Amino acid sequence: MFIFIIFLILGLAHECGVSPEASGSKPPPAAAAAAPPPSVRAAPQAGAKPRGAGTRAKSGEERRMEAAGLVNVKSYAPDIVVQLAYASANNILHTQLYSDFNEAYLQKDAARKLASAQRIVKSISPQLSLMVHDAVRPQRIQQRCWELARVRGLQHLFMPPKTISMHTYGVAVDVSLINLATGAELDMGSWPDNPGALAAPRRERELLRAGRLSRQQYTNRLLLRSAMQEAGFTPISNEWWHFEACSRKTAQRKYRPII
Ligand SMILES: [Zn+2]
Repeated sequence: MFIFIIFLILGLAHECGVSPEASGSKPPPAAAAAAPPPSVRAAPQAGAKPRGAGTRAKSGEERRMEAAGLVNVKSYAPDIVVQLAYASANNILHTQLYSDFNEAYLQKDAARKLASAQRIVKSISPQLSLMVHDAVRPQRIQQRCWELARVRGLQHLFMPPKTISMHTYGVAVDVSLINLATGAELDMGSWPDNPGALAAPRRERELLRAGRLSRQQYTNRLLLRSAMQEAGFTPISNEWWHFEACSRKTAQRKYRPII
């Protein structure tokens, strides 16, 4: 509750960014943290209402996801905002990787938890919403990411193809918070596609003390993290935007990777 009070006092700040997944455990070089974001995506229109699931024809990729047992998160949370980083070229790889796909698909258990997190966020402020930057990421897209990253010298930011990403199981989500009244994402102190030192939750207190993370940015992160954790997600230590709905062991036992 303390977090929320601070949050409401300080108000909502602005941030725009995109969010590819970095390696789950290996921090990138310090130079990556100092680099400016490679691209800035336009914020959604102020006051825009997110589109619900089922209001248009489904793409081939979406039908494939549903056949694999995944669900569109808007089926569980119609008011959630989705803007996938790889659905346009406005990402760290400057490449559109989802050709006919701009919806967030997850395993049902993960989608239910995300809907729960959205309800928690809405209970704090109706003008706030979760904003999904990536959800399921098929293995062939992960492979393509790796190949592009290698060409660009960015492979330290991506999981090697031999490791199945939790996104590929459909149980991981990259998410931020957006103020629907202004169309601006809340300021988290770093761009989601800049997984350097500033992105790491494990260093937040140290960054706060050093003045590299403001009290507002820190509070915004706590707000996101507390809502996601209360809904049953687990954060990771090096990316504030990445959350997992179950353990890797559970994912391997219950689900097959999406190819
Ligand atoms: Zn992620």
